Amino acid sequence: MISLKACRNCNTITDQNKCPRCSGEVSREWQGYLVVIDPEKSEIARKMGIHASGRYALRVK
Ligand SMILES: [Zn+2]
Repeated sequence: MISLKACRNCNTITDQNKCPRCSGEVSREWQGYLVVIDPEKSEIARKMGIHASGRYALRVK
């Protein structure tokens, strides 16, 4: 199983040791998987302040 991590800053899910989007710190402890295809039409994306399509964690510890 690939250990995916999530950015503490922007919630982006990545397998890197640093967030590819904002260079923020990543955490292995995260919950919920959110795929944003169209951030303009996604209510969750808007609530979370997501403005780009991609994979996100709902909660990052
Ligand atoms: Zn980030």
